[in-house]
Amino acid sequence: MNRRQFIKKAGIGAGVMTSLYSFTKAWDKESSKAVWMPVVFVGHGSPMNAIEENTFSSTWAKLGQQLPTPQAILCISAHWETIGTKVTAMPYPRTIHDFGGFPKALQEAQYPAPGTPEKAKETIQLLERWKAHEDHSWGLDHGTWSVLKPMYPDAKIPVYQLSLDVRKTPQQHLEMAKDLALLRQKGVLIIGSGNIVHNLGLMQWQEKAFDWATEFNTEIKNKIIQRDHASIINYKNIKNSTLAVPTPEHFLPLLYCLGLQQTTESTTFFNDTATMGSISMTGALIQ
Ligand code: ZN
Repeated sequence: MNRRQFIKKAGIGAGVMTSLYSFTKAWDKESSKAVWMPVVFVGHGSPMNAIEENTFSSTWAKLGQQLPTPQAILCISAHWETIGTKVTAMPYPRTIHDFGGFPKALQEAQYPAPGTPEKAKETIQLLERWKAHEDHSWGLDHGTWSVLKPMYPDAKIPVYQLSLDVRKTPQQHLEMAKDLALLRQKGVLIIGSGNIVHNLGLMQWQEKAFDWATEFNTEIKNKIIQRDHASIINYKNIKNSTLAVPTPEHFLPLLYCLGLQQTTESTTFFNDTATMGSISMTGALIQ
């Protein structure tokens, strides 16, 4: 598949064609070791994306092939909320099936990537002022493995997770992410996995997004491009936020990605569409 086909498959419209250069930067740098790893926000949607070949999972697969190969992956998933900040530090994290009612093939799917106790320790040191702790009981929840399975099917790259501390404010989540920036220089791909718009209660069997969902998603994308992080932190003041973000956990991983963005870096969106009316699948590649 050439770049044009990839862009088409990734659902990138003409409106963001000016950002295409940012897609190519990482590819061209693949041979360089002294590279800042990109940061990726993924709209993960249904766990079925883990085993279904569809537009979303195909785009994640392409990203996995095109981005510089990471030494480790740190995922901030919507599905791991804790009191206090935790970092998984086990050598062999289990695959957590934190959902119900899905086919057996998904219930039995595994993502046997190793963990990385060393990187977990390093991460905790970087987060010293936030008092993060090692965790040995969690593993990889579906916010992480449903994306990584298509993205890195070999499951050879070590993966660890950082939890969402339910007591932190959106501002604190974004500030904490800034302290993780050094990991990017050490080959760690940081992925925030959630959904900008995520309202399970209003899901319908339709592909087209509700108007309120499109409006909110577009507003957030515009503010990302404008680097208006203050407005994104205060997303509750944005129109339709109560419908789009009824609970914060799927939105907060985005704040980590924005906190990690350097002043010279731009953002390219992918999978920029919706599913079930009330779930936006928009992803953001920051590099
Ligand atoms: Zn989810």
